[in-house]
Amino acid sequence: MSEFTDKTIDVPGLGNVPSPSELAAQKRSKYETDHVGVPDQCPVQGCTANGFRSFAQLRGHFGSASDGAHRSYDLSINDYRDKDE
Ligand SMILES: [Zn+2]
Repeated sequence: MSEFTDKTIDVPGLGNVPSPSELAAQKRSKYETDHVGVPDQCPVQGCTANGFRSFAQLRGHFGSASDGAHRSYDLSINDYRDKDE
């Protein structure tokens, strides 16, 4: 296959290093956590927390709430990802 699909590229003087596309893939999950949009309101029933703009904020709220309702709620970034990705 072409160099564009390889996981690494051969850089003179550096040897094999992750290709730009591979680096982008590695950063993608962190980027999504920070930028995937979520509903303004916490999805847990009975919780009135709101003002969320990103999955990272929502996940942080779950981490600090840590009550049974939030712990048992299956928070998944997949629920908020654009479906066409
Ligand atoms: Zn909540």
